[in-house]
Amino acid sequence: MPSDQMASDMLFECRRCGDCCKGYGGTYVTREDIEAISRYIGADPGEFVTEYCQLSANKPILAQGSNGYCIFWDKLCTIHPVKPLMCKRWPFLKSILADSKNWQTMADSCPGIHTDAPTRMVKKYVEKILSKK
Ligand code: SF4
Ligand code: SF4
Repeated sequence: MPSDQMASDMLFECRRCGDCCKGYGGTYVTREDIEAISRYIGADPGEFVTEYCQLSANKPILAQGSNGYCIFWDKLCTIHPVKPLMCKRWPFLKSILADSKNWQTMADSCPGIHTDAPTRMVKKYVEKILSKK
């Protein structure tokens, strides 16, 4: 059984292209994300939601800037230490457990995802990652 780091490298290697930070992807922010990001940028949580988020199905998601990227993207993630849980977990998301085809779908927009990785290995790794958090 490979180590977590080896398994992760076999499944995914970020190319730092920024594509996942572009477009209306729906980066949801949890209550904890809102509090952490607000503290980090020195904003009130209510002000953060009004100024830096949009609503999707009544839930706050990070807004986009006029360049089409996430409002916190500036050649890199400017809130990296407190970026939302969804960004921290990418691409090892719960949706892969619901349907492993999501791995391939996500790979269409993320060149770092290894599509030749065996489905069983992907699911096992995602289960392991999610069980730790
Ligand atoms: S799209 Fe994938 S490879 Fe590109 S920066 Fe995002 S996670 Fe990394
Ligand atoms: S918070 Fe950071 S990592 Fe997440 S979408 Fe925005 S710029 Fe990208």
